[in-house]
Amino acid sequence: MNKSLTDRIRTLQTASAALEPDSLVRRAAFEQVARHSESFLDELATRKAYISEQHHWDWINGQPGEEPGSMAAALDWVKANVDRNGIDTASGRDLGYIPGGGQYFSALGDYIADVSNRYSGVAYASPGATYLEKSLIRWFAGVIGFPEDTGGDLTSGGSIANLIAIVSARDAKEIQPDNISRSVVYLGVLTHHCVDKALRIAGLGCCEKRIIPIDTFYRMDAGALEKAIIADRKAGLNPWLVIASAGNVDAGAIDPLPEIACLAQKHGLWMHTDGAYGALFMLCETGRARLKGIEQSDSIVMDPHKTLFLPYGSGIVLVKSEAAQHRAHAYDAAYLADTKNSGVENVLDPSSLSPELTRPFRGMRLWLPLKLAGVSAFRSALEEKLLLAQYAYQKLAEVSGFELGPKPDLSVVTFRYIPEYGDANEFNIRLLDATRDDGRIFLSSTTVNGKMWIRFAIVVFRTHLDDIDLALDIVTHEVKRLEKTD
Ligand SMILES: *Cc1c(COP(=O)(O)O)cnc(C)c1O
Repeated sequence: MNKSLTDRIRTLQTASAALEPDSLVRRAAFEQVARHSESFLDELATRKAYISEQHHWDWINGQPGEEPGSMAAALDWVKANVDRNGIDTASGRDLGYIPGGGQYFSALGDYIADVSNRYSGVAYASPGATYLEKSLIRWFAGVIGFPEDTGGDLTSGGSIANLIAIVSARDAKEIQPDNISRSVVYLGVLTHHCVDKALRIAGLGCCEKRIIPIDTFYRMDAGALEKAIIADRKAGLNPWLVIASAGNVDAGAIDPLPEIACLAQKHGLWMHTDGAYGALFMLCETGRARLKGIEQSDSIVMDPHKTLFLPYGSGIVLVKSEAAQHRAHAYDAAYLADTKNSGVENVLDPSSLSPELTRPFRGMRLWLPLKLAGVSAFRSALEEKLLLAQYAYQKLAEVSGFELGPKPDLSVVTFRYIPEYGDANEFNIRLLDATRDDGRIFLSSTTVNGKMWIRFAIVVFRTHLDDIDLALDIVTHEVKRLEKTD
């Protein structure tokens, strides 16, 4: 035996010992992290929702060093460089874009999943993890009104979930190089940009695209959709996919889902519904009434990291035909032959339903909060957000000078101030900037048909009546100030 070889191996083992902290070190580290997180949460209510100040970036200290560092120093660095700038997406006063939240039990779910590091990509490796995820897929299928044998996957977010649905649709409708250029996809003016990106990634960039106009409620015009499909059929083209929005980002408007479903069925199109923002409102009564028809989609996307308030990294795709989803993502590998058919009965490997092989055990971050807080807490929070939107809309309507966008279908309120003099778009850009300089709330904007709208996107579970009142106060105060200085 070569003594020097074993000596070297043992030396390296010792030199890498920091990778396996002992129980005392682990507990101390865990406590420090818990304290850090507690102080982050304690300061949430008094901290600004948006900090735009210039920050001095210390590149050198941010980079890893050769020798072990202390947890205290690492956490100080995070506090100084990460926690104190940009948008505070955990804040109840973040009303920009489609905000998140970061529910705490979910972080603990990640912790559990990461420590055990269960392999959830193939059922054989962790039947329990796969079973837990599949049971969640079934549960969410039930929430939407999809059948129990629906296919699905827990993804990193809505963009990947949309890609999975589109690829499943592509193969089910047999869109191939010889027919791509005469195959037609129908999108709305306000369809999320990740859908177009997914089409390009899926090799469908040269499909014909019809951008269907919106009506006065910012919903897809179903009449225009039907006309377009009929005209394309007449022209010998192949209409195959329609993308509906169940809550667009701009105004939260829900496309006319029953009408679109009816057209899709009549003309043989796959109906995909992007409900990344809105579909989870199916958990509350008002949401269910507004989202009627969603169950007729062939596939659907929802984002628990938006409307289930989880930390970022959680999307869901449901595909009614699991066979279609499987066909588009199945694979074979000699080195994985021994993993086949040895997991959970009647459950396909998640890796055969998505582009991912190895993936985080995402089920835990979704399952733990639902188990611990209970579903009814989520239902109530979602219903509360819908009512807060209604409240904000009514309040803004009472202030003279404000023009309101369409009455919110969900929890996005759009408004703009019409100044006595000057260009309204320009004024509202300045108004938005003024709210960002203030920083106690964070708002964003959109432009539809040339009109710039400021938005309240009420999605964070921590957003309550007081936060909306504060947002209304800040907006009306800044309007007065800007009107005076003009
Ligand atoms: C957020 C969103 C997406 C994209 O999802 P990510 O989770 O950000 O990848 C797609 N569509 C809609 C309607 C969204 O709100």
